[in-house]
Amino acid sequence: MKKILALHTGGTISMSANDLGEVSTNEENPLLDSRFINDNITLTNETVLNKPSEHITPADMLIIQKRVKEAETQAYDGVVITHGTDTLEETAYFLDLTLPNHLPIVLTGAMRSSNEIGSDGVYNFQSAILTAASDESLDKGVLVVMNDEIHTARYVTKTHTTNVDTFRTPTFGPIGLVGKRGIHYFQELIQQTVVPIDHLKHNVYLLKAYAGMPASLLACLDQPETNGLVIEGLGAGNMPLETVQAIQQLLDDQIPVVMVSRCYNGVAEPIYDYPGGGIDLERMGVTFCQGLNGPKARIKLLIGISAGLKGQSLRDYISNAVS
Ligand code: ASP
Repeated sequence: MKKILALHTGGTISMSANDLGEVSTNEENPLLDSRFINDNITLTNETVLNKPSEHITPADMLIIQKRVKEAETQAYDGVVITHGTDTLEETAYFLDLTLPNHLPIVLTGAMRSSNEIGSDGVYNFQSAILTAASDESLDKGVLVVMNDEIHTARYVTKTHTTNVDTFRTPTFGPIGLVGKRGIHYFQELIQQTVVPIDHLKHNVYLLKAYAGMPASLLACLDQPETNGLVIEGLGAGNMPLETVQAIQQLLDDQIPVVMVSRCYNGVAEPIYDYPGGGIDLERMGVTFCQGLNGPKARIKLLIGISAGLKGQSLRDYISNAVS
């Protein structure tokens, strides 16, 4: 018999629509009434938060992380976390970076609220429970299960505003599938270093580059309280000429600047050697982060800084998506 703990945090999976199709939060989560019958699994439901995921903050992620840590001492075999889909990938990656990753921890959500036709909430919840209860899910890191696919927290991202087939893993694909007769894995993720944190630093920012981006946008962040900046750069990680001096100023003021790509596929790497090109930026002291999207690189920078990493050790932690 497997003991699974379901932690509910809110999101569309727990919401309902009115007659006009307007979706809002319920006082009581309808998922708690859904019947999950499986002779081999005992399910315990617990409400941790009841928020749309746009309202979730890193402080909330820490609350969820602490509850999961506690569950690890309470003889649970796996944890399912229901969450709004808008920031689900950020909470999932936060947990992935800060928890030991032995026990299956599976996040899920829904694109259609609980009373809409074709609602995917109960189905995704059930898939997540089955995934968390599978021995195959041990030591896989934090997982995201939606629409019959199993993705890693590290690389999954929300790709469609409303379609149920929204969570994808660009470049690498899902690591497994939820089949009619069981859970199937097809890929193994390279293990990463876990950085346990119990408090958070703030003021770590994310900007997206665009043609004609002004230096003033970066200059705004050159403040004593700024702890770090992630930039979703152009292509393989290049920046408009006008921003280069402002980036240099941030670095001179000891603010770590991390480069990822705004492209949906591929990894950021220094290739171009001209002002604003990746090689130029790397020479200036910008840290390239491979394989992560902007919101996830920001979570990683936030965790590294919160753990007290500085200088080269922070650069080493950020620059490799694996460690
Ligand atoms: N806006 C919702 C949220 O993230 C979307 C969802 O859950 O699908 O809370």
